Amino acid sequence: MELLLKDKICVVTGASRGIGAAIVARFASEGAKVYALSRTEPAETEKFAAPLQQPVWIACDVSDESSIDGAVNEILARDERIDVLVNNAGITRDGLLMRMKTDDWNAVLSTNLSSAFFASRSVIRAMLRQKEGCILNVSSIVGLKGNSGQANYSASKAGLIGLTKSIAREVASRGIRVNAIAPGFIDTSMTAKIPEEFRERLMATIPLGRAGKAEEVANVALFLCSPLASFITGVVLPVDGGMGM
Ligand code: NAP
Repeated sequence: MELLLKDKICVVTGASRGIGAAIVARFASEGAKVYALSRTEPAETEKFAAPLQQPVWIACDVSDESSIDGAVNEILARDERIDVLVNNAGITRDGLLMRMKTDDWNAVLSTNLSSAFFASRSVIRAMLRQKEGCILNVSSIVGLKGNSGQANYSASKAGLIGLTKSIAREVASRGIRVNAIAPGFIDTSMTAKIPEEFRERLMATIPLGRAGKAEEVANVALFLCSPLASFITGVVLPVDGGMGM
């Protein structure tokens, strides 16, 4: 069977661990050449179960537009095209609204939301020239529902949904698809810091009765970025075990 992303040039942000690393591995296993962007290099263990092509790591701080433009220019200088951009990098700085520091608001908004604007703007000229391309934004179920203690994070993830739909409308006529996924509770280093008691309460709200795996999110990312989803744009697809139902 033909590989789903054969020879496609893919860029994944936040690729050093967790969901981003799983997306890199899954895309590479389908024949993509993947550029993995993050501030720190992926750990040896994340260096990707049997991909056909080893990913190329580029150091990049997605909250800094010049860092993103630099990475995108480097990729275009090497490969002259970008077929897929996955805006996955994200952080949390949780706290109740009345105690939330402005720095924590700004850090989350710039890393989770402004980054996707910077990166999408940076790749869009190449995609317009190619008359094809695909952007996938990693939002969250809390971007749809909100979450106590996560005003900054939820706002950034809701913002990604507006960004997704607006860009999708802007570029659909040029053959470019823009979608989002909304993961629920996924086992990664981001959720490892959640106290056990709170985790148990969260599990009770997931109809499938367990946390998701990064690989399960990566499979959905692959679907949306592949020709299998050629008639899908502007959607927000939950990957949450039914949590958002
Ligand atoms: P994670 O394990 O903490 O990984 C986060 C990734 O983002 C790391 O590779 C990190 O790399 C990168 N990153 C953070 N700040 C960055 C910056 N300024 N520049 C470049 N890269 C940066 O988290 P995860 O769970 O895989 O989360 C991935 C995405 O899924 C995030 O957007 C998150 O909000 C979203 N999500 C996660 C869950 C969940 O339950 N885990 C649920 C819904 C949505 P460096 O530190 O090396 O830069």
